[in-house]
This record gives sequence, structure tokens and C-alpha cells, in this order.
Amino acid sequence: MTAATPGVLAEVQRERERQQAKWGEQNLEPAVWLMILGEEVGEANNAALEHLLGNRADLRHYREELLHVAAAAVNAIESLDRQLAPETA
Ligand SMILES: [Mg+2]
Repeated sequence: MTAATPGVLAEVQRERERQQAKWGEQNLEPAVWLMILGEEVGEANNAALEHLLGNRADLRHYREELLHVAAAAVNAIESLDRQLAPETA
């Protein structure tokens, strides 16, 4: 953990809250979560490639897509935890 970690995690939490408001509780199969994560990782790849190719000067879009990846991973963990222990989730 660094001094930057709490701020970044707060951003992940805000993105997670945005997802929750948009989609509600998502209880999906692990394979579906991995496809969603793969899609978000693909978007991060695309943003990094656009930067590398000189089509996008700044890396803010790449950073935003990394937040999507992190928030989707948190969502997948929450979904899995409900599956593993539905009586306590
Ligand atoms: Mg995205």
C-alpha cells in the first residue's frame, strides 16, 4: 500500500456504485464474469494501443478503463461470495 492507494480504492468504489445504480445486483456465472472482465481488459488494451499509436495523447481513457476492470472484479467477487454463502450474504 502507498499513500495513493486509498484514493484509488475510493475511485474504484465510486465506479462500483455507478455499476450498482445502472445494473442492480448481478448474480452471474463465473464464466460470464470472466467474459465481462475480458471485455473491460480489451477496452483498456484498446485505450493503451490508441495512445501507443499516437491517436490519443493522454492516458486518462486507459486509466478509466482500468477502473472499470477493478470495479468489475469487485462485482464478480461479491457475486461469487453470494453463491458460496447465500445464507450469510
Ligand atoms: Mg469500460
